[in-house]
Amino acid sequence: MIIKKDKSTIQNYFQDNSGVSGAYADSVAIAENEDDISNFLIEMSEKQIPVTIVGALTGNTASGLAFGGVVLSLENLNNIGEIKENSDNTAFITVGAGARLNDIKVKAYQNGWMYPPDPTEKSAFIGGNIATNASGSRGFKFGPTRDYVQALKVIFSDGSKSFIQRGKIFSDKNGNITFDTNKGTKHIKLPEYKLPHIKNAAGYYNYPDCDLIDVFIGSEGTLCVIVEAVLKLVPCFKEVFGGIIFFQNRDNAFMFVDKIKLISKKAKVERLRNSINAMSLEYFDKNALDLIRDDYPLIPLDAECGIMFEQDVYDDSIDLLIDKWYKIMQKYNVNDDKVWFASNLAELEKFRIFRHAIPEHINKIVKKNKVPKVGTDFAVPEGKLSDIVDFCQKEFKNSGIFNLTFGHIGENHLHANILASNEDEYEKCRKLYIDICSQVVKLKGTVSAEHGIGKLRHIFLEKMFGKEGFKEMAKFKKSFDKSAILCQDNIFPRDYLYEKVCH
Ligand SMILES: Cc1cc2nc3c(=O)[nH]c(=O)nc-3n(C[C@H](O)[C@H](O)[C@H](O)COP(=O)(O)OP(=O)(O)OC[C@H]3O[C@@H](n4cnc5c(N)ncnc54)[C@H](O)[C@@H]3O)c2cc1C
Repeated sequence: MIIKKDKSTIQNYFQDNSGVSGAYADSVAIAENEDDISNFLIEMSEKQIPVTIVGALTGNTASGLAFGGVVLSLENLNNIGEIKENSDNTAFITVGAGARLNDIKVKAYQNGWMYPPDPTEKSAFIGGNIATNASGSRGFKFGPTRDYVQALKVIFSDGSKSFIQRGKIFSDKNGNITFDTNKGTKHIKLPEYKLPHIKNAAGYYNYPDCDLIDVFIGSEGTLCVIVEAVLKLVPCFKEVFGGIIFFQNRDNAFMFVDKIKLISKKAKVERLRNSINAMSLEYFDKNALDLIRDDYPLIPLDAECGIMFEQDVYDDSIDLLIDKWYKIMQKYNVNDDKVWFASNLAELEKFRIFRHAIPEHINKIVKKNKVPKVGTDFAVPEGKLSDIVDFCQKEFKNSGIFNLTFGHIGENHLHANILASNEDEYEKCRKLYIDICSQVVKLKGTVSAEHGIGKLRHIFLEKMFGKEGFKEMAKFKKSFDKSAILCQDNIFPRDYLYEKVCH
């Protein structure tokens, strides 16, 4: 284990993408192997010293920020193994928690395979991606990180280790799960609350017949240290094409998206090769487009919003498919001059940079203003998107604070960002966000569909599960992390870990 204490050296570990300041820790421990981690956690448990696990610190919710105790970094466990092919046209790759997403994707691609999850920030570590169940634009077709985690090697705060394989251990009908570690058997019981049946990254996973591995995915460092993962790869597409369509009218854009979703779902279910079948469907509102207009002056001035799409192609049908997209655009009165088109991967990469420029610009503003980011991560059930967008627009208009909305419209999952320029505005933004969350919950949605809860969103999660939900979560965490040292304050407030506190 490498221990760093020098303040100027460890400063970099106290900032993530949330804009939260004031993080600190006595030291940063950089693990060099599994035994390092195991021994370190035993010592920290005995001394009751909080441990914050960090990945690449690209998270949005301050979940990787320490407020006291020590930081544990997995950056040196970054091995990327060889690809092992299976007879069912899939492959597996074993990676260390500190491997960067980009390096994994490149290795898969160079060997004809694809690791589909694509959270836009490729410098993130896979350990961070798994701990947040990250997803991205291609989640519309391929789902989140969870769907590609085949096995995990984890270490608990008592120093015990376990190798958990997908499909081996499930909860019983009462939510009990029993599994082995190298130091004995653990018995846990899933928390009792109901998760929505949509894309979700809020709260511990607890669906019926829960696979044990899913409990750790999205647990934001609170249950264990993830040291290694076996990831599933799928065959890479032959080509990919896509575009950005600029609409003068939001209703038209939403109707277009609904139609594409309908056709894509049919194509997926019926495994149709020659059909429109979007890989991603992304939305940018007018303010989001205006934010990057200086870099992209050709964005039409009358654009009210934009829809970006991608489609993957596995045979020679690309021309036929492009033709189908153009035909459907015509049906929704889209003129050719309102479409930017990319007919291959290299061209499409420019659009992905366009897409990435929006959160990057937001982060710059957040850094400049020195006020934390207030950005929603909600998703709502099918048919409820217009309701929530209308609600947000009304609230934003009343507030007068600069805002913009973009995100994964294919999954009814949008990031509405309200950018405060001072502390007063920040407080207003938080209140606004709470109102939005209440509305989302009324619509049976989730307050976080991909970034998780971290330290900034407890109050929003409370809207979903109430204080009883927090108590359930605290009990659940302690069944893995008896000394309650791991990533305190992530997901639920740390007070709930201490029984004496009344709520
Ligand atoms: C410009 C930009 C765009 C982004 N776009 C997306 C997007 O499209 N989709 C998306 O989902 N996210 C997105 N993010 C957020 C971020 O990239 C993800 O949350 C990512 O998964 C965080 O990974 P990380 O390695 O940086 O983890 P960190 O931020 O360091 O940590 C995140 C959480 O994971 C825990 N953790 C990290 N490693 C481990 C481990 N080995 N074991 C246990 N717990 C661990 C930490 O304790 C913390 O709770 C974006 C970020 C930026 C800056």
